[in-house]
Amino acid sequence: MPDAAPLPVLTTQKAWVGGRFLDNRDGRTFQTLNPATNRPLCEVEVSGAAEVEAAVEAAEAGFAVWSAMGGTARGRILKRAADLLRARNRELAVLETLDSGKPISEAETVDVHSGADCLEYYGGLAATLGGEHVDLGAEWNHSFFYTRREPLGVCAGIGAWNYPLQIACWKAAPALACGNAMIFKPAELTPLTALKLAEVFKEAGLPDGVFNVVQGFAETGQLLTQHDRIAKVSLTGEVGTGKKVMAAAAASLKEVTLELGGKSPLIVFADADLDNAVSAALLANFFTQGEICSNGTRVFVEAPIKEAFLERLVARTKAMRIGDPLDPDTQVGALISAEHRDKVRDYIRAGVAAGAKLMTGETLPDDPALAEGNYVAPAVFDACTDEMSIVQEEIFGPVLSLLSFSEEDDVVARANATPFGLAAGVFTRDLQRAHRVIARLQAGTCWINTYNLTPIEMPFGGYRQSGLGRENGQAAIEHYSQLKSVFVEMGDVESPY
Ligand code: NDP
Repeated sequence: MPDAAPLPVLTTQKAWVGGRFLDNRDGRTFQTLNPATNRPLCEVEVSGAAEVEAAVEAAEAGFAVWSAMGGTARGRILKRAADLLRARNRELAVLETLDSGKPISEAETVDVHSGADCLEYYGGLAATLGGEHVDLGAEWNHSFFYTRREPLGVCAGIGAWNYPLQIACWKAAPALACGNAMIFKPAELTPLTALKLAEVFKEAGLPDGVFNVVQGFAETGQLLTQHDRIAKVSLTGEVGTGKKVMAAAAASLKEVTLELGGKSPLIVFADADLDNAVSAALLANFFTQGEICSNGTRVFVEAPIKEAFLERLVARTKAMRIGDPLDPDTQVGALISAEHRDKVRDYIRAGVAAGAKLMTGETLPDDPALAEGNYVAPAVFDACTDEMSIVQEEIFGPVLSLLSFSEEDDVVARANATPFGLAAGVFTRDLQRAHRVIARLQAGTCWINTYNLTPIEMPFGGYRQSGLGRENGQAAIEHYSQLKSVFVEMGDVESPY
């Protein structure tokens, strides 16, 4: 049963600019809904040109203060923010669950903690950031050069709705560690927790203007991507949005990081530990109702074990508990919107129409509490072929396509036959095959004998149309800083003129 504690009462949410809430000028608002009931949680003010301009000005002022501080001082504030997030875990997890529809059991154990881990990691790294010194030797009069790792300036972060707080942290933490200021726009479907992060930053001592939140639709995002005083944009979203953002950013040659969609393969060889492989396939498809970019939605299983794999997979899928996201026992929550639920259901219908065999996922449990929400029972398709739409396209819902294979070369070619390249997984006990196959897969984030684990230390990102740049790990530092090379002459200037 859901926790009996009263749910938060939310007033109209606003932009957060320069360390305080900012009223919008034109009074436009939108509603954010609870995906479990489709009832409104609150109104949110749309940030228009005036609010975005105010955010840029505040961020520039914040940048001047923040970029002048040393890395140790910056890191201390980020680590304090990590502690505050953890201390407020329950409250933030409830809010995330109400806004996103994901199970509280996930929000409480993954979302807030992953955000806090990220702040802690980059808080630790902040003091270590710097350049190098290279002595050029006698032939250069012992001149030398050094490099300075400098921030980019004001960065924009634009988030998707599946991991709202985590995405805000994954973008803000490396950006701030490098000395940048950030303007973050959450997805309009999940606008709430980014504002909580702003509050947490303020309480942790972050100077005003260093982290700002603007709210709204694609138009608000465009105001950011087109702004010539914003140096970088980092987007998490769909491939189509990524292309638009990159095109808009080209006008002012912004740096761009794109974390986009996927249709990732999970390959299970016959020698794999069967139960572990089934566990991974479930994690790779049904966590957060399947609304995860890196999901391994094309599960290729070697022919000799396919039937045994399918039997266990279907039994465990049928046993998953669908229900009120706030119920701690719920394992499958509500999809983000009625529109998205309908899209996922259309894909399931298209799979059946194309001849794939729906092994489970046809019906929801007979529970009146589910009637108002955007629920879809986890679906497992057998008898899929590579050209079906359910196998080709990103569904972003709980739909697993099972495919069979017999040859390593063949499965590698089929796994790579996609314009995406976000993630991939291989299950086998054969050490050499594991590394050989992973090396041949065109994907940026890979797992051997597990799936969907994303420690903050590990760079995360995609190949091909799944993205550009990397989040997390030391790799993200490259994407939020620039190198200045400084040559220092120790002799005379030799000039032929
Ligand atoms: P969208 O691409 O629809 O939206 C992402 C964000 O971009 C939203 O804040 C959206 O605003 C904004 N936006 C939309 N159009 C523009 C534009 N032209 N210029 C600037 N900003 C714009 O993605 P979803 O929110 O639907 O998220 C799902 C997608 O995100 C999936 O494809 C998924 O794979 C991908 N994703 C990728 C991840 C990764 O790390 N690789 C992780 C998580 C998700 P608005 O809210 O108003 O639409």
